[in-house]
Amino acid sequence: MSKKILLIDDSKTQLNTLRILFQREGFDVEIAYDGIDGYQKIFECTPDIIISDIIMPNLNGYQLCRLVKDNPHTKSIPIILLTILEQKIDKFWSKKSGADMFLLKSTEFSNIINCINRILQDKPLSEDIKKDIKRQSFSKGIIQAELNHILDNSLMQATILNEFRLLATHLEDEGLMAKNLFDILSSVLNFDLSLLILNPPETNEKEVYASSCLNLENESIKKAVKKSIVSIFGEDAEYNYKTVYENWCGLERLNDNIFENSYIHQIQYRDNILGAICFFCTQDKDIENQKLFYTLLKEIDLLVTIQSLYAQNKFLSLTDSLTGLYNRRYLMENIEREFQRSQRYEKELSLVMIDIDFFKKINDKYGHQAGDFILKQVTQIIKRGLRKTDLIFRYGGEEVLALMPETEKDKALLPLEKIRKQIESQEFLYNEIPIKVTVSMGITDTSENIETLEKFIEQADKAMYQAKNNGRNRIEIL
Ligand code: GH3
Ligand code: MG
Ligand code: MG
Repeated sequence: MSKKILLIDDSKTQLNTLRILFQREGFDVEIAYDGIDGYQKIFECTPDIIISDIIMPNLNGYQLCRLVKDNPHTKSIPIILLTILEQKIDKFWSKKSGADMFLLKSTEFSNIINCINRILQDKPLSEDIKKDIKRQSFSKGIIQAELNHILDNSLMQATILNEFRLLATHLEDEGLMAKNLFDILSSVLNFDLSLLILNPPETNEKEVYASSCLNLENESIKKAVKKSIVSIFGEDAEYNYKTVYENWCGLERLNDNIFENSYIHQIQYRDNILGAICFFCTQDKDIENQKLFYTLLKEIDLLVTIQSLYAQNKFLSLTDSLTGLYNRRYLMENIEREFQRSQRYEKELSLVMIDIDFFKKINDKYGHQAGDFILKQVTQIIKRGLRKTDLIFRYGGEEVLALMPETEKDKALLPLEKIRKQIESQEFLYNEIPIKVTVSMGITDTSENIETLEKFIEQADKAMYQAKNNGRNRIEIL
């Protein structure tokens, strides 16, 4: 049976010429003089393929494409847009509107035929589909309504996606980004609780942001967080709650029914798990079937990926690659602030200088690589021995500086003495050679009359040199 082509063009001469040419090739040809006429004919004659002009009055080729491809009954009919428009943007719009192919009218006719035959072979329309199309009742008034619907949807999508783009201006502040994300999500999706989990580069602890004020007394929240964390990062993962909403917001209503419908989506870049977005809701809110849900997921994927790459990049620029400690640049950014804060609130701040003893000899005796290894091991011991709130920097070659907020120097001595002893007693095995080192430390704090940051650093340095002069492997307080 010959295949049926529906030809749509507002030029009668064009139509007649093409009709004759296609008929010669053995096609059954139906014609229409504009987009509206053409859309109506689809339901009357059920063509195997549509070939349409783009510029036409009333309904143009792009709009016709959108109508056909948006309608579940007609979407599998292939469409070729045949046009004199030859700019790249025209081709782009043809693709976006769903056209199967875009051909210039100047294309050699044999090529056009080849393309049609190929499409007909690749995307044949079954008799069942044709019967289904025929069964659809159709009136001209529907066209405008359908077009409006498509336009509305595209506009809605574009508006929401634009809001997402704006979220990327808060990469620096994860909390604000999370809050704005929840604001958008809760204005377009219906759910009871959403969690955003991020995996920051500087720690092993995941960060959990919630779309409700976090009340850790609430068992359902605790359960939801646990369930999400475990399903993405496993049973042993450590995590931290982050508050983005200060106010109580309908938490009382959160109960175990929110687990009737849960959707946990892992966000990944290459082999790295960057985090997750999770939704919890009652049976009546089927999250996956809500409009734009998957489009939004894709946007969240992109947002979290960008945020995470940004955070990693920032982390790398502020840390030292050998020891993993913060670098001097980060020290300069922070020490001033910590110092001012301690002055303003009259809170103690201890500053510690740590220097490896006779480190040059280690390099000379065992080689620079061995020196690097020792440096890494020693800084690990220091890091493990201090609190999470203490800031540790690589100050110079084999010098480490630690800032211990809200700690007076006598209190700082306790953990530091433990660290000193541990380093002294350890045998560091490098290529099976045991190496021993010691460290000297100097501590000072803001309790004395120290007015400037320079003096503060000088004082700690002085204490450290006293430790060196008094025989090394010891701690002095000034
Ligand atoms: P002191 O007890 O007086 O501190 O003696 P020292 O030898 O540790 O001090 P000095 O300042 O004379 O020498 C420090 C040495 O640390 C010199 C330098 O080669 C070495 N060094 C600095 N940075 C690195 C590094 O990143 N890796 C290695 N392997 N060695 C380093
Ligand atoms: Mg040294
Ligand atoms: Mg030194």
